[in-house]
Amino acid sequence: VKIKDLIGQHDGPFYSLEYFPPKNPEMWPKFFANVGRLMALNPVFCSVTYGAGGGTQDNTFEITRRFKQDLDLEPMPHLTCVGATKDKIRGFVSQLRDIGVDNVLALRGDAPADAGFSWDDGEFRHASDLVEFVNAEFPEMCVGVAGYPTAHPESASFAEDLHWTKAKIDAGSDFIVCQLLFDVREYFHFVAQLRAMGVTSPVLPGILPIQSLESVRRILSLCGANIPGRFYLQLEEADAKGGAAAVKELGTKFAADMIRRLVDGGVPGVHLYTLNQAETCLRIAEMAGPLR
Ligand code: FAD
Repeated sequence: VKIKDLIGQHDGPFYSLEYFPPKNPEMWPKFFANVGRLMALNPVFCSVTYGAGGGTQDNTFEITRRFKQDLDLEPMPHLTCVGATKDKIRGFVSQLRDIGVDNVLALRGDAPADAGFSWDDGEFRHASDLVEFVNAEFPEMCVGVAGYPTAHPESASFAEDLHWTKAKIDAGSDFIVCQLLFDVREYFHFVAQLRAMGVTSPVLPGILPIQSLESVRRILSLCGANIPGRFYLQLEEADAKGGAAAVKELGTKFAADMIRRLVDGGVPGVHLYTLNQAETCLRIAEMAGPLR
């Protein structure tokens, strides 16, 4: 089933959930136990990240397969095109088609750290190239893309990044999943800008469950999202007074409050970056209450 249709037909806001494939196969039973617990949120789809470094691509496929065939979840594997050949992308998407997967999140990925890397050597330069390629070769696929409410860190300006986000939609993608955010105003502003440019596709905000100050620091350093200074200071204060448990409690309340404000503001759905953690996500959803 195409996610764009599921979004269009859904009666009111929903959750979608993002998972990353655990590298170590010994962690899979626990992973699938968490996936099972989070089915309580009735996710409209479940996305599975794709390691740009190459290590976890088979795992992305296998988890996608199990979601689809064993758990009856609608999967959306991520797919990055940095350093990939057209043959490799064709092979991966063909495999997805063989197991009945209709959706993919088309991403560029980050440049690898190795000194010899050059964007000019690859067969794909931007996520929009991947969108075009998948659409041309697999027109039946539904394609999502990434969006950055505070602009992608490589962009010189918001306007430039908005321009390229629109280009991904114009290239044939169907919806946008946002980078995680800690200020709902960024999401509403981003959507308003896209609407003003004529983009009518659904845009899903990304919400992160906060596990600890250290995990927030690590994630912020990796993804380039913004965090309001005041909230960060509150997290530091909670950490100093009550340690990780206090940080998690504050983060849980903060995420639940963001979800309420997003829903009140009319979001189609909320994309939860689960970090494969059922407990915190379930508490966030419980605190946020029914999404109506
Ligand atoms: P692009 O859309 O290509 O954009 C990258 C930069 O290039 C931006 O600055 C953009 O403005 C600019 N740009 C785009 N098109 C053009 C053009 N035609 N000409 C000039 N400039 C252009 N990474 C992973 O490795 N695996 C994952 O599973 C993964 N999942 C993600 C899920 C979400 C929801 C998000 C938001 C990000 C995810 N990422 C993942 C990270 C992502 O790969 C990085 O953010 C990467 O740096 C950019 O990918 P993109 O698809 O947004 O690239």
